[in-house]
Amino acid sequence: MSADRANDDNPLLDFSGLPRFDRIRSGDIAPAIDALLAAARASVDAVGRDTRPETWESVVEPTETAFDHLDRGWGVVRHLNAVVNTPDLRDAYNAVLPRVTAFYTDIAQDPRWFARFRGLADGPAYAGLDAARRSVVDNALRDFRLGGAGLPDAGKARFKAVQEELAMLSARFDDNVLDAENSWTHYVPHEADLAGVPADVVAAARAAAKADGRTGYKLTLRYPCYMPVIQHADNRALRQLLHRAAATLASDLGASPAWDNTPVITRTLELRREEARLLGYANFAELSLVSKMARTTGEVLAFLRDLAQRARPFAERDYAELAAFARDDLAIADFSAWDVAYAMERQKARRFAFSEQEAKQYFPEDRVLAGLFRVVETIYGVAISRGNAATWHPSVRFFEMRDKAGALIGQFYLDLYAREGKQSGAWMDDAINRRHTQDRLQHPVAYLTCNFSGPLDGDAAHFTHREVITLFHEFGHGLHQLLTRIDVAGVSGLQGVEWDAVELPSQFMENYCWEWDVLVHMTAHAQTGAPLPRALFDRMLASRNFGSGMAMVRQIELALFDMLLHSAYVPGGDGSHPSPQAVLDAVRREVAVVPHPPYDRFMHAFGHIFADSYAAGYYSYKWAEVMSADVYSLFEERGVMSPEIGGRFRDEVLARGGSRPAFESFVAFRGRPPQLDALLRHNGMVAT
Ligand SMILES: [Zn+2]
Repeated sequence: MSADRANDDNPLLDFSGLPRFDRIRSGDIAPAIDALLAAARASVDAVGRDTRPETWESVVEPTETAFDHLDRGWGVVRHLNAVVNTPDLRDAYNAVLPRVTAFYTDIAQDPRWFARFRGLADGPAYAGLDAARRSVVDNALRDFRLGGAGLPDAGKARFKAVQEELAMLSARFDDNVLDAENSWTHYVPHEADLAGVPADVVAAARAAAKADGRTGYKLTLRYPCYMPVIQHADNRALRQLLHRAAATLASDLGASPAWDNTPVITRTLELRREEARLLGYANFAELSLVSKMARTTGEVLAFLRDLAQRARPFAERDYAELAAFARDDLAIADFSAWDVAYAMERQKARRFAFSEQEAKQYFPEDRVLAGLFRVVETIYGVAISRGNAATWHPSVRFFEMRDKAGALIGQFYLDLYAREGKQSGAWMDDAINRRHTQDRLQHPVAYLTCNFSGPLDGDAAHFTHREVITLFHEFGHGLHQLLTRIDVAGVSGLQGVEWDAVELPSQFMENYCWEWDVLVHMTAHAQTGAPLPRALFDRMLASRNFGSGMAMVRQIELALFDMLLHSAYVPGGDGSHPSPQAVLDAVRREVAVVPHPPYDRFMHAFGHIFADSYAAGYYSYKWAEVMSADVYSLFEERGVMSPEIGGRFRDEVLARGGSRPAFESFVAFRGRPPQLDALLRHNGMVAT
């Protein structure tokens, strides 16, 4: 009984409201997750034993609460592991991870549960279900099949072992990158060595050195330090040093063999292929597309190559002009990878008399947030205000979204600043999914996480325009999570939405960062308080598509690499692609315009496809961008702040979650299938 009593008091098992971040300790993790797994298992077993006719009430409903609690509890643990990673927490996370993975692979193969779902799908009750509930049943049957439920016993056992090993490899990949990144520091003795680097970055580097009890300036590979140095440091040797450190992170050329992701990559690719073939697919790419909007590998490859062909002339022109500028104006004869970002900033400053750092002075955090909220409040008819909740770090804030009548829609946490122990990048994750329980409505809650430079010496944080765009992007995901009207958790918010459609709402929101009427309200100069001058905005706008050809072929390079790595490449196979690096080299020959140095081990830190869910799915960004640009073009026609079009977008896309195919939602909003025109126009890729 003592274990039960302990669990009564376990904050991870308290589902009465928001997560109890004020009370959770790493010691709570194992007992809580084990209890949640046991409860979910028991609910599955009960459904399997049930002999009543198959209905929603007898097959789906009895497991809903146990699974919701498991999602929420495990979600909190995953979240903490990503944002306040400590050795204790990481150990606790890694200790339960195999049990969680084993649970999901186990139940996906449970024959009696599978039979109950099949009975529901084939029986008379199915026709009486609404669209959302039918989608839940259809997705469950698909996931049973993809989970190996149809395999013979030996196949099931092997499939499960493969899943477990893949989950460990994915966690290992991230840990290696994070450890390698954290281990790298470089102290610069004199401020003169940082000539060209923005003053706030220099000040942060001095503060970081001081915190270590050292004089001089501490440089790291974390984004708010790495990016401005690689973009602005006049010191070419310093840029080269940082570039090499970042490009060899967690690789065979990295700081320690302990963090080398080479074996992780090799093994992951072998196991993914084995997983796909166990299920009857030729390769992992085919398997990945089963739950996506795109139908075949060929369709994706053709889409990417068509886009590459359209973008490449613009990319080649960008690069030729950049190399000429570096040679003539910067006296760099042997133009190299570590000069590209620097030369681009200089060329951009020359051409448009504008730099990210100049614009940054105009974007204080409070104004930016107010501007973002104003857009959302106007087009969706909602109101956002501060709320109270326990968090995992003092800098995290909490907000509530309500409708015009004051009724709660959802809530979100905002964790904006980079810090040690926080995974790099920006993302949205669900904390709580919207659903109706027997007696009440459970409101959705989202985590919004970024890695911006925080406030320095008591001043308000200021964001670059790029960071503002990132914030809008993640908030778009958040709106997908919060504005859903679906009452069953399985297809509410982003649940059940095809992966290649997930980036639609997020990339859509980015467009607002280029609207004068939106942007001007978000600005106040750090010293004078003056709003962004129209002339500076015009220069920013003129520079919007600066380098867009190079940026587009870079994204296509990554997407093509990912797709071919998971389809054409055969681990230990025929020799036409002898290694993952050979696949990357071939793709670069086909589409890239920027030469890469031989030490470039970008793949070893490509977490999207090795530690996240973008494997054979990286193309999703471009795929969804076609749709997001096309959606925005209707706003451009009818008014970008139009509540009418906003309402239609909410009703037909955001509110629907995974209750119907994304293609149908798009057509319902736009009145026709997606077209490429708006994307090309927004990127300045229209023949003149
Ligand atoms: Zn995104």
